[in-house]
Amino acid sequence: MQQNGQIMMTYRCSAACRHCLVMAAPQQDASRVSIERAVEYGLDFARLGRAVIIAGGEALLFYDHVLKMVRALRDVGVPVAFVESNGSWCASDERVRERLSRLQEAGMEGMYFSVDCWHQEFIPAQRVWRGIRIAREMFGPDRVYPMGIGLEEARQAEQAAGDDEKRRWAAGNGIHFIGRAAPDLAPLVEPVPLADLCAQDCRADLDIDALPEIQVDPFGFVRPDWCPGVNLGNTHRERLADLARTRRVQETPLLRGLAERGPASLLPLAKSLGITPEPAYASKCHLCFDLRRQMVKAMPQEFGPPHVYRVAPGRSGRPLLNKSD
Ligand code: SF4
Repeated sequence: MQQNGQIMMTYRCSAACRHCLVMAAPQQDASRVSIERAVEYGLDFARLGRAVIIAGGEALLFYDHVLKMVRALRDVGVPVAFVESNGSWCASDERVRERLSRLQEAGMEGMYFSVDCWHQEFIPAQRVWRGIRIAREMFGPDRVYPMGIGLEEARQAEQAAGDDEKRRWAAGNGIHFIGRAAPDLAPLVEPVPLADLCAQDCRADLDIDALPEIQVDPFGFVRPDWCPGVNLGNTHRERLADLARTRRVQETPLLRGLAERGPASLLPLAKSLGITPEPAYASKCHLCFDLRRQMVKAMPQEFGPPHVYRVAPGRSGRPLLNKSD
């Protein structure tokens, strides 16, 4: 299995999907990972045996910056496996061909397009399909993710409107109820009593060496990509290659507690800060997120940045783009 190192270039996005773990949205600020930092991260991810990918938010809102980043990484011998995108920019065949061909020349090896019922509340199926179709022609079908998706599947995602359908989907597909998924999607599933959640650990979630993807954000915070705000540390103080390891979890009492006892390990800390948990949550991650949201001001290095918790509500049913485009 290929393991990825994700340079999360920005919290800004062209959409505000209801399942977004990082509260990415058009309202988020435009802070970006610098080219110099990206090169440092690329070299460190390569040392860790991870393929480099660029994501966001919507990284391609800053197309010229991504282009420079891909080129700079190629120049130090670290190819970008793919850029993740929601396809909001794929307004015409000409535009897609022009943008992808320049990225390909710069050294990018593939593309990833998000296709699901949450993204398609904002991005027309026809638009993201245009990106997938042309990317497959240019990079080959085995370098464009997700593989095997067709226009029909994109249209089905677009048509999967209505909370009944999404409730079934959310319950059956392991949604992580953190970021915007906490306020927007947790009400769609049966709450689980606090005592049951306190019996769950996070050993597998924090076994960093085995995780498919590690993420570094625009402010230097390093974390498993499923746990935004659970920081292994910050690259402004230590090298990414030293942070993104299971050893780091074992050596850090707060992280070791989370791994061994799950979010229950945060409760004494929360109590000391005057925070009382709810009697039930949608999942252990929902509990973890809710406690961290209230603790981040007191513990910005451990649980930051505030962008992960800053509520930028989803806008269900209100597409940002004109579907006739
Ligand atoms: S409970 Fe917290 S640490 Fe555990 S997997 Fe969920 S977000 Fe990560």
